[in-house]
Amino acid sequence: MSNELYERAVVVAERAYAPYSNYLVGAAVRARDGRVFEGVNVENAAYPLGVCAERTTFSRAISEGYRPGDFVVAAITASPCGGCRQWLAEMGVERVLFRNGGRIVEMTPDELLPEQFDAGELGA
Ligand SMILES: [Zn+2]
Repeated sequence: MSNELYERAVVVAERAYAPYSNYLVGAAVRARDGRVFEGVNVENAAYPLGVCAERTTFSRAISEGYRPGDFVVAAITASPCGGCRQWLAEMGVERVLFRNGGRIVEMTPDELLPEQFDAGELGA
């Protein structure tokens, strides 16, 4: 089941908008109700404005009414960057599957980002 999700990430990666780096990344996230969201990296000529595949994927899901804790597994065709590790933790996904160094790795958000920033620190 997770391999199927990873394959979806590979397929969707072809739709990435990455004219500057030519580094195409795809992500697919499965929600608890079985729905799958897909996303790609979207670059911009003003480089820092580019958005990672993980963030476009979760942004789509949140826009559809899903919330942190609604997600089971995320599959990504590249190792998530530091910022996306924080996103994966906040979204409460249980497992993260990604390609790194030619192999597929599976980790939890806690393993990907120990001692992560937590909303509890905001004092809200
Ligand atoms: Zn990222």
